[in-house]
Amino acid sequence: MTHKTEDTPMMKQYKEIKANYEDAYLFYRLGDFYELFYTDAEEVSQLLELTLTARNKKADDPIPMCGVPYHSADQYIKKLIQMGHKVAVCEQVEDAKQAKGMVKREVVQLVTPGTVMEESTLDEKENNYLSALEVIEETYYLSYIDLSTGEFKATQLNSFAELINECTTIQTKEILLSETMKDLEKDIKKYLNILISYPRSNENRDLKQYYPADLDQGLKRVADLLLNYLADTQMRQMEHIQPLESYEPQQYLRMGPGARKNLELQVSLKDQSKYGTLYWLLDESKTAMGSRLLKRWLDQPLLSAEQINIRLDAVGNLMNHYFERMDLGELLKKVYDLERLSGRISFQTVNARDLTQLKQSLEQIPHIISLVESINQEGVWDDWLKEVEFPQDIYEKIDQAIVEEPPLSITEGGLIKQGYHPVLDEYLDAMHNGKLWMANLQAEEREATGIKNLKIGFNKVFGYYIEVTKSNLDLVDETRYERKQTLANAERYITPGLKEKESLILEAEEKSQSLEYELFVDLRDEIKVEIERIQKLAKYISMLDVLQSLAEVSERHNFSRPVFHTHTQSVAIKNGRHPVVEKVMGDQTYIPNDVILDDSTDIMLITGPNMSGKSTYMRQLALIIIMAQIGCFVPAESAELPIFDQIYTRIGAMDDLIGGQSTFMVEMMEANEALQNASSQSLLLFDEIGRGTATFDGMALAEAIIGYIHDHIKAKTLFSTHYHELTELEDRMEQLKNVHVGAVEDNQELVFLHKIEDGPADKSYGVQVAKLAGLPDQVIQEADVILSSLIEKSNSPHQAPAEQEERPEEGQISLFEIGRDETEAAVVEQIKELDLANMTLMDVMNLVNELQQRL
Ligand code: ADP
Repeated sequence: MTHKTEDTPMMKQYKEIKANYEDAYLFYRLGDFYELFYTDAEEVSQLLELTLTARNKKADDPIPMCGVPYHSADQYIKKLIQMGHKVAVCEQVEDAKQAKGMVKREVVQLVTPGTVMEESTLDEKENNYLSALEVIEETYYLSYIDLSTGEFKATQLNSFAELINECTTIQTKEILLSETMKDLEKDIKKYLNILISYPRSNENRDLKQYYPADLDQGLKRVADLLLNYLADTQMRQMEHIQPLESYEPQQYLRMGPGARKNLELQVSLKDQSKYGTLYWLLDESKTAMGSRLLKRWLDQPLLSAEQINIRLDAVGNLMNHYFERMDLGELLKKVYDLERLSGRISFQTVNARDLTQLKQSLEQIPHIISLVESINQEGVWDDWLKEVEFPQDIYEKIDQAIVEEPPLSITEGGLIKQGYHPVLDEYLDAMHNGKLWMANLQAEEREATGIKNLKIGFNKVFGYYIEVTKSNLDLVDETRYERKQTLANAERYITPGLKEKESLILEAEEKSQSLEYELFVDLRDEIKVEIERIQKLAKYISMLDVLQSLAEVSERHNFSRPVFHTHTQSVAIKNGRHPVVEKVMGDQTYIPNDVILDDSTDIMLITGPNMSGKSTYMRQLALIIIMAQIGCFVPAESAELPIFDQIYTRIGAMDDLIGGQSTFMVEMMEANEALQNASSQSLLLFDEIGRGTATFDGMALAEAIIGYIHDHIKAKTLFSTHYHELTELEDRMEQLKNVHVGAVEDNQELVFLHKIEDGPADKSYGVQVAKLAGLPDQVIQEADVILSSLIEKSNSPHQAPAEQEERPEEGQISLFEIGRDETEAAVVEQIKELDLANMTLMDVMNLVNELQQRL
């Protein structure tokens, strides 16, 4: 019979603590290790490939256990956090030697994906946001914070879709839900694959200092939720948290959920990396702060021509000053991450090396300021210069206190400069003199004994000693020397004088170490008071960094300054390019194209063969607009633009093809989002809409959508289609214009010109593309016959779909008229039977491949 063993006092303590941290792995400090028990141990040993052992192995009910050494715990915690888990770090909070009974232990920090501060866990070029969500009477409230930098924001959204869109945009790492949001947890998980947390306490803290006086109640509630959670998990003061900044999504160019993804602004569709994205193209920032700010600008392009022009003026000014810009780049490279340094100063996790980084960064500021002064023309930099100040006092404080190359440890001395503190100087002097005294003693003893290799050494166990090699032992006067330690080939001695000096040195050393630590902490606290100034400086330096980055890229790729007009929505881009495709193409020449959408044209209907450049052309327009509205020059000879308020896209993506069955649903959801929200000032991009459903359904929908945009929304729209029939809409819709991508047949081969030309494409090139793909001649010929009969037979697209879907008789006759062998007949038969409407492009590719094999 097994009987349950009684819990030891330690396990009792463990269980009590663990009960408050059910949602986290509890790292329980035991001497030099953090131990995990029970299911924590079982799971973490799996996740981190640690050996699972047991406590009380011999008992009937051993306790599963695994552990990690405390000095390398960081890396294990980091891995768990990156996997989306939480870790509660439980420390011994009293000296084990002085404890009566069990050593007291407490959780000192709950580390979660949204609240990590450790430099090694964070991506320096990415913000790490924790978000809180709240809903009050169908209005959604979102607040988010980057604890590492102190950036703190809140906004309100009118729909769940917008809420999810905003969370996706900021790439939040953890979501905190209010009780009222609990019911929506499942729905949130459908869209966002991240950790969801709930408040840890109901404590009511006074958080006024973080909020503007007139803060909306809903925003206050969601921000409270966030700050209370931080206080509950971090368990310390957080001076670096900036005052809450609330904003309306309508203040910025809004983008539909698909748009950011499909336009590959920050993440590529192919492999989710930054390669091939607009961010990849634009980021020539010299500091991590700059890279992060550029991402925020890309998330929030501006709506005010005035504000945009301020940025454009600065970019243009920097483009005009090549040499100064190069110098500026060199200076910025020496500026460390001031935002995250501020965070760590506030968290008291900086060491002396961090402070020298701060000093080195500050040292650049006067040079940066005078450089900016030297290029300041027409007051372009007046506002910037007004805000930026060299914090000489902070610089001097660090410079006076901290040595040039301090050690990592802040407890072992060697970090404070001589001359900084008189008492420390005395200790340092005693140490220095003591060491000098030892050196003299060595010389004297050598002289006195005649032992040339006699030396004075030091180790932690015996302190200072005199060492004499075996061969010289006969020269030692044992009345003066006391033997202390015997080695294989030497003896070690001490003398009373030596020991006396030693205790002076050691005492000075110990005292100096603790004094140095105190002085360091004082300095750190003095700087902590100045965090706001450092943060403000960080803000303006990162702004400057992004502007020089945009200038650099604009000049390198020959971009030109966009011109905004506010009285009309017309677009006139001359020789525009897709900047990323162009860059990736390298030596090949990109064919520039105009985009003219004047007051009498809202919709451009683009026809042309696959792979001719339709979608590149559409994306190019969107990218030019986004670049323009963040304040960057644009890839075009010239660009006259209105300010767009929203961008929606429906662009077929790779994952749609793989996802197959849901393609049509995704398509319709994105279309719906666009039609519901777009205004006459929006940009809509529809690429091959309707492709995901039966041909005539698709065509009907496409036409209806175009009609709706044309008559109701009146937004500037690019609509590409393979439904040739839609080109007839030009006759009925005044604001619609047909364009096509030119292609020529050269020697019966199709050559894409990538050039957009007026009018509809004159015929469908599908058959030619099939020929390019290498289908047998006979199949191609037959397809040609079927095609011509279809074209003859087909009337306008308004005819009832059912009638049209019947296969035309001529087509059938022509197929059977031609003689062929049986395999070919079977293949043709199979092609005839295909339900194309319900196949994905991938299916078709696979099938054609299979058919080819058979022929
Ligand atoms: P579509 O949408 O018509 O199927 P894409 O826009 O995807 O075609 O373009 C196919 C390829 O053609 C692109 O990947 C690019 O390499 C090339 N291409 C597109 N537009 C241009 C252009 N203007 N100049 C040069 N190459 C281009």
